[in-house]
Amino acid sequence: MLSYIVRPSRIHGQGLFTLSRIPRRMKLGELTGVKRRMSHALREQQQREVMKLVELGHGWALDCMEGNEFSSLNHSCQANCYLRIAHRRVEIYSLDSIPANHELTVDYGETMHKGGMQCCCGLPGCRSNI
Ligand SMILES: [Zn+2]
Repeated sequence: MLSYIVRPSRIHGQGLFTLSRIPRRMKLGELTGVKRRMSHALREQQQREVMKLVELGHGWALDCMEGNEFSSLNHSCQANCYLRIAHRRVEIYSLDSIPANHELTVDYGETMHKGGMQCCCGLPGCRSNI
């Protein structure tokens, strides 16, 4: 059984950390939230400092403002996890094996934030302003 903890992150605000070692290509869980029309959710969240919105396709999005611990996943340009969207569900998988006490990150790609968002992962190859 894997366990996670949300605590302050060096990347941004709060982040999600694993308390146990995670093997590569493993399903970690599912992101929960409210399914909403993309256009409505986007308009609303673009006003906020942090956006927690995952596009599901066909004009739908998962609004994760009130989501589970996976909504604390920060962006990194060298992420160790990825999101898989299937049947309007958002699953989280590990890309590589991840040691205990490491922050879990995903590459959210292009931001939907107006004017872009600064990435603070500080890793080699960081796109800096995504
Ligand atoms: Zn970065």
